[in-house]
Amino acid sequence: MQTAALADLGLAAEWSYEAIDVAPDEFADRVMALPKQGFVGANVTIPHKGAALTVAEVLSETAREIGAANTLSFVEGEIRADNTDADGFLNALPPGRAAERALVLGAGGAARAIVWALLREGATVDVWNRTEQRSRDLCRDLGGQPVAAPDAGVYDLIVNSTAVGLHGEDPFEELPLSSHAFRSGQTVVDMVYAGQRTALLVAAAAGGATVVDGIEVLVQQGALSLAAWTGRRPSLEVMRVAARG
Ligand code: NAP
Repeated sequence: MQTAALADLGLAAEWSYEAIDVAPDEFADRVMALPKQGFVGANVTIPHKGAALTVAEVLSETAREIGAANTLSFVEGEIRADNTDADGFLNALPPGRAAERALVLGAGGAARAIVWALLREGATVDVWNRTEQRSRDLCRDLGGQPVAAPDAGVYDLIVNSTAVGLHGEDPFEELPLSSHAFRSGQTVVDMVYAGQRTALLVAAAAGGATVVDGIEVLVQQGALSLAAWTGRRPSLEVMRVAARG
């Protein structure tokens, strides 16, 4: 999707976006070598989002408070770390549907960015996680309330930021949700990247909820990273088409 966006911006002759596989113990050296090789920045993903903070000289407020970075920029000899997962998530939500009461399922890296973003927007956020200690730790660090047995019907926004669904797991077995819990007026987001609607989103849409999938969130965070590096606003539609293959 980044390659398609660069081509659409007329930058394909000078710019390219490449995947680099790097082991954790090589991460810092590899990143520090990138500017000399002509790179202007990098997206960083699992398991390097924490290490990306320690390698950077300048941290955005978002990256510092979430405790993870997904975007590095090499500017004037400095490595700057940012986190576009938070704003990318907010940009993926339907316009005008601010969540007053939100339920976030999960307490990993994705959940941290989402909880941070929703709290900043003024939402009340409940956090459920399979391993309860992790939801307690997340809420202690960022805010929000850990919940053990949420009543899905009371929320305006429900976000699955667990890995459930990535390998076909049944969300109604693994998560504290019933397939009949959804209603119109709700927004349901499934962060899992899937080519087609996940079982969670199929049930949510059948109940009348507005649904947002993980590809839309991926596109939105990627567009923010590309804009930071190029100074140009990429076409979301071009990126969506490319990401959905
Ligand atoms: P992570 O840090 O490894 O966290 C994984 C989370 O999933 C933890 O809360 C874990 O709970 C939970 N989990 C895993 N298996 C489970 C199961 N069988 N039942 C209940 N909970 C389970 O991963 P992450 O980076 O937060 O990513 C989470 C998901 O979001 C992944 O599917 C990832 O691909 C997706 N994601 C999407 C985007 C996007 O832009 N669309 C961005 C980032 C991540 P425990 O703490 O109990 O282990």
